Amino acid sequence: MTEQLSLFPQLSLKERTDQLIEFRWLFVVGALIGISIGNLVFPESLPIPILLVITAAMAIGNGLLWWYARRLAASPAEGREARYLRFAHVQIVLDIVALTVLLHFTGGIENPLYLLYIVYVTVASILLARLYSFLYAGLSTALFSGLVLAEYWQFIPHVHLAGFVSPQRYQRGLYVTVVLFALGFTLFFCAYLASSIAEMLRRREKELLEANLSCEMRAGELAKLNARLAELDKSRSQFIRLVTHELRAPVAAIQSYLRLILDGYVPPEKQREIIEKSERRALEQLALISDLLELARLQDRRAEAEPELVDVAAVLRSVTDLMQARAEDKDLLFSVQIEPNVPPVRATPEHIKQLWTNLISNAIKYTEPGGIVVVTLSQNPNYVVGTVRDTGIGMTPEQMSHLFEEFYRTEEAKAMERQGTGLGLAIVKRIVESYGGRIWVESEKGKGSKFSFALPKAM
Ligand code: ADP
Repeated sequence: MTEQLSLFPQLSLKERTDQLIEFRWLFVVGALIGISIGNLVFPESLPIPILLVITAAMAIGNGLLWWYARRLAASPAEGREARYLRFAHVQIVLDIVALTVLLHFTGGIENPLYLLYIVYVTVASILLARLYSFLYAGLSTALFSGLVLAEYWQFIPHVHLAGFVSPQRYQRGLYVTVVLFALGFTLFFCAYLASSIAEMLRRREKELLEANLSCEMRAGELAKLNARLAELDKSRSQFIRLVTHELRAPVAAIQSYLRLILDGYVPPEKQREIIEKSERRALEQLALISDLLELARLQDRRAEAEPELVDVAAVLRSVTDLMQARAEDKDLLFSVQIEPNVPPVRATPEHIKQLWTNLISNAIKYTEPGGIVVVTLSQNPNYVVGTVRDTGIGMTPEQMSHLFEEFYRTEEAKAMERQGTGLGLAIVKRIVESYGGRIWVESEKGKGSKFSFALPKAM
């Protein structure tokens, strides 16, 4: 059986050991006082020298126990609890034996202090597992019965407390039987009661400890969630600030163009040009709004269509014609290399189309005429892998670190291509990650870039 209370912390075992030792000092002092009083009350009856020797032996023994308890407290933590338990057993056995010896020399059954056995059984019930409370109740009953019966049958001499009880009491069979039975019953009943209460307390302690632990864990989780929420809230406010700024710019431009015309600053032959400029800004705004809508849709998974098996190669072929035309317009060499038998991925076809379109149109946009754009599609054991490589303007490592942030555009990109929302790559990243994939980029300023993505194969 588990001897005890893995839950009783060592501290409490230590405290209880110290208490036992303190209690024994009190007992020694009490015994000395008792011997002095006994000498007055029962002159001639008590063997005072023997009692003094026993008390001195108890004091020395307790001194040794106190010394050992201090060593125990300083011993290595590993196995200390088991040592404390062994120590508790030794002390309780010694106490019960010492009490029996003392009782022998102070009247045996005539001395009501045999009730002290109850104290040791109670201590054992609190400190040790239930079995031991019954064991020590049994040991106490056996030792006291042995003493009383040995005196009864006159194997050992009896010390009579003259004047306290009638001289022959220890010889009365009925009296002896009743006292032994009453004491045995009381001891076992006490062991039962005290160990039940102790076990209930241990259970409660365990429940409390567990509840405490789970509370602490919850508090930790909540703190983490809270920090994450604060972070999200911060980036949301930042995003709103950016969106407002981006949306305001084209409207402000259109409004100022219109005001120029309305105030009559633009001659009629120039008005068309200004109106065309206004339209371009309006188109930019429309592109921005549709990108923002797409981004929001990607964030709200409920609004998404049910994913299906998508042939990534077929989608790539479907956008190739349009991209080829754009590349030719810019005098770029455009090539597409698709490995045979690339398996499907589970996704929304629209998203895969957008993924290819955004990456390829960026490569075309940010490559000078005469450059090359190469698109490949292949697979590895778990993923379908797409790459878009160009010999365009490229990026510095610093620029690459901001690449997937909303509205981020490099100065070189802005100079080369006025149109652009800075949202295309943020959309692409969300698409890829929402299907459990990842996207990465390699680039060198002035040399070109290579965007790669990997999407999990549909099993
Ligand atoms: P947009 O193209 O509308 O500016 P994106 O989100 O698609 O927005 O791209 C963000 C920025 O990333 C671009 O403005 C550009 O600075 C950089 N970028 C994207 N693709 C490339 C590329 N192929 N070569 C160099 N820079 C690129």
